Amino acid sequence: MWHGREEGDGDYSNLAGRRVKRAVRTACSILALVVLAVFSASAQWVDLDTGFYTPPGNFDPYPMVEGDEVRNIILMIGDGMGLATVTAARIEAVGPVGRLYMEKFPVIGLAGTHPTDRLVTDSGASATAIATGHKTTYGYIGVTPDGEPVKSILEYARDHGLATGLVVTTYLAHATPAGFFAHVADYTFPYRKTTNPVARDIIAEQMVNCGANVLLGGGRGYMIPASKKGSFRKDEKDLLKQMKEAGYTIVESRKALMKADGEYVLGLFADKEMDAVPDPSLEEMTARAIELLNRDEDGFFLMVEGSQIDYFGHDNVAAMMIKTTLLFDLAVREAVEFARHDGRTLVIVTADHETGGVTIIDSFRQLNQLHIRWSTDYHTGVQVPVYVYGPGAQRFAGVLDNTDIFRRMAELAGFEVEESAFSEEQAD
Ligand SMILES: [Zn+2]
Repeated sequence: MWHGREEGDGDYSNLAGRRVKRAVRTACSILALVVLAVFSASAQWVDLDTGFYTPPGNFDPYPMVEGDEVRNIILMIGDGMGLATVTAARIEAVGPVGRLYMEKFPVIGLAGTHPTDRLVTDSGASATAIATGHKTTYGYIGVTPDGEPVKSILEYARDHGLATGLVVTTYLAHATPAGFFAHVADYTFPYRKTTNPVARDIIAEQMVNCGANVLLGGGRGYMIPASKKGSFRKDEKDLLKQMKEAGYTIVESRKALMKADGEYVLGLFADKEMDAVPDPSLEEMTARAIELLNRDEDGFFLMVEGSQIDYFGHDNVAAMMIKTTLLFDLAVREAVEFARHDGRTLVIVTADHETGGVTIIDSFRQLNQLHIRWSTDYHTGVQVPVYVYGPGAQRFAGVLDNTDIFRRMAELAGFEVEESAFSEEQAD
């Protein structure tokens, strides 16, 4: 309790000195805050028009699904989508007490993301962990730290006669999709954090024979000879021609995608990545991929990536990070609506890592307006959320490693995986 100071208390000359000091200290603090505010580009107010997003009709959790008979698996990866990213998207779209579609999932886990040789991963090593159950070296894709190729969940599904697919908004030779079909070391240069163009060309070549039934996204430029307009290749290989010969129907527009009907469909909608608000939308591509894959009576495995959440995390652009998260959430709605109707489909929504070190900070200026601060323009090492719906979902509850996501999927799908196929560092 504060009693105040009575007149005549203490030494007046000292008091005056203390007041001066206090005034100087206050002035310094204010100056520091002003300097911080002016020079800190890392804090941003967000005011996004979310009219494009249709929120869930209610915020109740989806019910648990009895049993653990899994016919189909839809794995959805928000690249760079951390917990603060999801929270920020929620606040903008439905307010702080609302729920996104992914947040209505009844089972939630948290997954660690580190590669074998450091605390913060790149997308390749993390995709490898999720797709194959193996931790690997930063920058490696689909291989162990020794460079040994390891089989992915998509390859297991394919070999068990299931239909398989990948849907992304970046190019198909990018790290996350590559984790499901490619096997290369040195995709990302560790200290430059940039992509190795030679590895990227090789990944595109490995896509030709990966056997996935549906491949949708960008990246036409990695499939056509260097001499052709729009090519990013370093050689004259014509992978588009090879894929046609391998039986793929190739489509380059939404209209053509909706009509495509073959057993193998390759949709390339941009030379490199698709637009941040892509056409066809991620939601449309997801719905169409499910339609095409669901024709297989043995079931299917589909991976869908909200690729560009990560791009805007790197660029520290909060509004677009949130917009791409909400566009991804609409694709989640497609998947969960199918799964609820089907009853034997497991849907897992997670991230490969967080990007940007996003946090939601307080503000005395606008109490209800979203205020974001960034701590980096790169990935971070915090755990990422794992939202799960469908039969066997409870097996994903609790604290996980990203390699556990592969394990649980393989177990529930009934794929036989030898124990030796897992990294030694994994404890069970
Ligand atoms: Zn990533």
